[in-house]
Amino acid sequence: MSEPSGAGRYAPSPSGDLHLGNLRTALLAWLFARHSGRRFLLRVEDLDRVRPGAEQRQLADLAAIGLDWDGPVVRQSERLDRYRAAVDELTAADRTYECFCTRREIQQAASAPHGPMGAYPGTCRALTFAQRAARLTEGRPAALRLRAEVGEFEIIDELHGRYRGRVDDVVLRRGDGMPAYNLAVVVDDAAQGIDQVVRGDDLLPSTPRQAYLATLLGLPIPRYAHVPLVLNADGQRLAKRDGSVTLADRLRRGDTVEEVVSALTRSIGHSARTPTQLLASFEPAELSRQPWTFDDNRLLQPGSCP
Ligand SMILES: [Zn+2]
Repeated sequence: MSEPSGAGRYAPSPSGDLHLGNLRTALLAWLFARHSGRRFLLRVEDLDRVRPGAEQRQLADLAAIGLDWDGPVVRQSERLDRYRAAVDELTAADRTYECFCTRREIQQAASAPHGPMGAYPGTCRALTFAQRAARLTEGRPAALRLRAEVGEFEIIDELHGRYRGRVDDVVLRRGDGMPAYNLAVVVDDAAQGIDQVVRGDDLLPSTPRQAYLATLLGLPIPRYAHVPLVLNADGQRLAKRDGSVTLADRLRRGDTVEEVVSALTRSIGHSARTPTQLLASFEPAELSRQPWTFDDNRLLQPGSCP
């Protein structure tokens, strides 16, 4: 066996406990990575809301369901220099501009109601010197945006095939000076040697923007697999309010870790008691494209999952 090349990853935000949907996505990311002989890395995306103790509980839950990872856990808050350098590089190439818009102004001016997560209409792209000076005098905090030169970009996804999506002038540095999510993800994936990104398909619409940003920074575009989310009984993305959805919740209800893992593996269309056991029969191409609907009362019953 040769040394594995490339890496996959799971990158949780420590804003609370992982729920079963998060754990299932982590399990899938682990399976995709291990199945293809890649390393599996963990990255804590802690540039936003951080709940004290959440990171430790998340890592403990991932280990408890049988996932292992390679090397130390990386935290985005410890990598600000890298993001700053990437922004500086884009600015030096005249690919950025300051944006003084408030969230409300952007929503009101949004020209593309169906764009990904509130596509920015370009209001501040061509501010005159005087307009910019006036906004600075008002004390408005400026975000830094990418001056995108394409309106769309195409990526290839292992489950969705060719996917073409909108690219807008994405925020690179927030008004509070912190790096924006889309920039940090691109910089980190490349810096960590991650060439396989497996994550929830709610992030598919923002992927073309990230891939385009990677090309501007001269970074390789990873292989993507956007996996179906776990839904609640109403067909909405599973959330904490949907019952006993975290590992701790399930244990409190009297389930064992093995039963929870079994339910997760059944949701992937297999019957296994551990991730390692599941790995032996896992075939990425056979993964269901359909979301898994969580039923609080039937979680542990065989046949409750497709
Ligand atoms: Zn603006």
